[in-house]
Amino acid sequence: TSSRMFTEDVPLVVEDVQGRPSTERATMLADPGFGRYFTDRMFVARYQTGKGWYDARLTAYGPLQLDPSTAALHYAQSIFEGLKAYAQPDGSVATFRPEANAARFARGARRLAMPPVPEDGFLNAVDALVDADRDWVPTGADQTLYLRPYQLATEPFLGVRPASEYLFLVIASPAGAYFPRGVQPVSVYLSEDYIRAAPGGTGDVKCAGNYAASLLAQEQAIEAGCDQVVWLDAVEKRYVEEMGGMNLFFVLGSGADAELVTPELTGTLLPGITRDSLITLARELGHTVTERRWSVDEWRAGVADGTVTETFACGTAAVITPVGEVKARTGDFTVGDGTPGPLTMKLRESLLDIQHGRVADTHGWLHRV
Ligand code: PMP
Repeated sequence: TSSRMFTEDVPLVVEDVQGRPSTERATMLADPGFGRYFTDRMFVARYQTGKGWYDARLTAYGPLQLDPSTAALHYAQSIFEGLKAYAQPDGSVATFRPEANAARFARGARRLAMPPVPEDGFLNAVDALVDADRDWVPTGADQTLYLRPYQLATEPFLGVRPASEYLFLVIASPAGAYFPRGVQPVSVYLSEDYIRAAPGGTGDVKCAGNYAASLLAQEQAIEAGCDQVVWLDAVEKRYVEEMGGMNLFFVLGSGADAELVTPELTGTLLPGITRDSLITLARELGHTVTERRWSVDEWRAGVADGTVTETFACGTAAVITPVGEVKARTGDFTVGDGTPGPLTMKLRESLLDIQHGRVADTHGWLHRV
């Protein structure tokens, strides 16, 4: 045990965990892929109505014991986050804007009628796990430690109402370079049969059900020969919302005068932390960034007349991914010449330089662990 705290009034118990041998770890870190391997430890805290959060601990990574009637398994009262820890050139480790993930997590909890994890507790839990498992933060080019906080309803009860018991966990998984063979544009399929989120729904939070509902459309995209699904608005199926688990940007014009458009946060798309960071970075580079509705027609016409020069998607996992071919029932088109656009690559490098500590962190986005 130690004197670490989870929240102001809940101590954090740090168990003595026998980690795996360093040779085994080295093998995993040499080619981690994504979401395949997990570190030696995990963070777990419990909640009960009337008692609040309690029993916070760093313990050995391993299976959970859940009652077959566990509420989350039936009614999906469950949310998650995704952020990364980056090895810094001075040997330290830093996470990127974890306060923003803590705030989004709490907002998601409220939307799903769950007790929010206090934001300081979220940050302390992530810090404690990264600190204890810092040997698992890979140091290879573009490698990171992906962190997955999540919260689920654990009350054993089949009635449909907010549960009275919850678990909050954080697990960590080493992640390799997303583009080991260099950045390649992806092809996308506009989903016209399925929608991701409707006004008043849960599209602006990271609840588990959103991702379950997206899988069939993603399969349809793959059957159509595309890499990713692009979601349209639920009402008119006219406006572009986001791509799989990433937000989208459209580049108009080129050079220093290039402008960016990104779909506005209408409540049906996820407010990405990468999206928010890129809006700031692009404006600092002198580009105008507009958040507004952006239709498929405007995208297609802009590509045809040359005003739309680049399109890219962004998110924690892949940072920035250029979009090339677009497939739609209403007609296919291709953005650019099959290579990543210059502003796409410039923004990608700018963000990666900050995250990996290669330039000064003038925004205070890095959080040292
Ligand atoms: N949209 C969706 C649906 C997502 O799941 C994610 C990943 N969290 C994003 C966008 C990108 O968000 P962020 O930049 O915070 O990773």
